[in-house]
Order: sequence, then C-alpha cells, then structure tokens
Amino acid sequence: MNKPLITIAIDGFSSSGKSTMAKVLARNIGYAYIDSGAMYRTVTLFALENNLIVDGKIDEAKLQKFLPSIEIKFHVNSLTCASEAMLNGRNVEREIREMRVSNNVSAIAALPFVRHELVAQQQAMGKEKGIVMDGRDIGTTVFPDAEMKVYVNASPETRAQRRFDELQAKGQQVSYDDVYKNVCERDYIDQNRAESPLRQATDAHLLDNSQMTVEEQDKWLLNLYDKIIAQQK
Ligand code: C5P
Repeated sequence: MNKPLITIAIDGFSSSGKSTMAKVLARNIGYAYIDSGAMYRTVTLFALENNLIVDGKIDEAKLQKFLPSIEIKFHVNSLTCASEAMLNGRNVEREIREMRVSNNVSAIAALPFVRHELVAQQQAMGKEKGIVMDGRDIGTTVFPDAEMKVYVNASPETRAQRRFDELQAKGQQVSYDDVYKNVCERDYIDQNRAESPLRQATDAHLLDNSQMTVEEQDKWLLNLYDKIIAQQK
C-alpha cells in the first residue's frame, strides 16, 4: 500500500542544519524539497542589484512596486541533484549565499508585503502535499496543519562555526567573527519581527543537534517520519 502523502515543516535558527537534514529526508522519502530561506535571499539579491538597499536602508515603496516582476523558481542541477534558486531565469544559487545577502536578508524578510507574497507562493507549492519545506515560519504560518513539524536549534557558536566552515569550503573569504555576528543579528531580527516571528509551533518536535553528527540527525528525522506515517489513518 502506498504511504499517505504528508506535509513536513522544518523550522529553526540560521545555520542550525535544518536545510541539510530537510534535503536528505526529502530525497530518502521521494518528496519535493523547498528552501524558503532561498526565496527571501533571492528577493534580497534583487533589491541589492537594483540599488533598492542603500547603506542598509530599504526603498520599500520601490521594492513593493518591483515585487510582481521578481520570478523565483527552483531548478534541479542534473549533476549534483541539488535544487538551485533562479531569479528571473538566472541561476543565483551561489550569489544568494554571499555575506552581502546574509547581512540584509532578515530586514527584507521582516517586511510584511514581502512575507505575504512569498508565503502565498510557498503555500501554492505545497498544495499537493509530499513536500519538505524549511524556514522560520513554515510550521506556524505557511503550513499550520502540517502533519510533521520539527524545530531545530543549536548554540550560536556551533551554528556560526558550521556556517564559517561552509563558506570557507566554497572559497568565500570571511572571518569567524563576522559570521558569528551575522548569525546573532539574524536570530534577533527573526525572533523579534512583528510579522510571523521565529517561534516553535506548539505541536513541533524539538531537535537540539549541537552534539549530533549529520548521520545521527538524519536518522532521528527519518524515525520521526516513520512514526508519524504509522499514525496516519
Ligand atoms: O534559511 P536561511 O538562513 O537561508 O534564511 C535566510 C533568512 O531568511 C533568515 O535569516 C530569515 O530572516 C529569513 N527567512 C524567513 N522566513 C523563512 C525563511 C527564511 O524570514 N521561512
């Protein structure tokens, strides 16, 4: 008998490892994977490229006017099988991970008109279920009825070290201190914004992976999925 399709929401702090585990789970169970953070990053890249952010100040009126012309899609790289963000047909996967984007993304993501548009697009992507989506508000706002919700956390130091290692591996010149500062700033903005702040949904399963290996967290997630599927009628 085919397993029932469910919706899986994985939320948590920056660099908590949620994208890594979400991707592996999606691959293992044959679900689509959507990185909602990549969507906020893509809007931020667009704003930077079009001079809509000057000295950290966002031209909100212009961004709101341009928003309908920003097309965000995901393309599966046939060599790596990774899902990559496209901005108006251009592959921007690498650029959206740069520090200039990280330094501005949380301010862009706090704008209600940006959130309304992207949440609507995310809900449309998950209409048929069979999706793993990670972000900050997936279990609380985007899919409040998701059958499986996970909230991931790890200490800021652990998360900054992971991000630093990842950027170094990609050849980006950054200092650990800058990465740590960025992680803490984003934590603060994400938790304190008025519109759908980062919160653990009351029915989310908490995972603190500070002391876990990638393999251990993948196993934990797959076990939880199996348990939840067994409970579906
Ligand atoms: O997941 P990632 O760190 O790439 O997300 C980048 C930023 O996008 C976050 O720091 C957060 O400000 C914002 N975000 C959000 N809601 C989501 C996903 C990401 O506000 N669902």
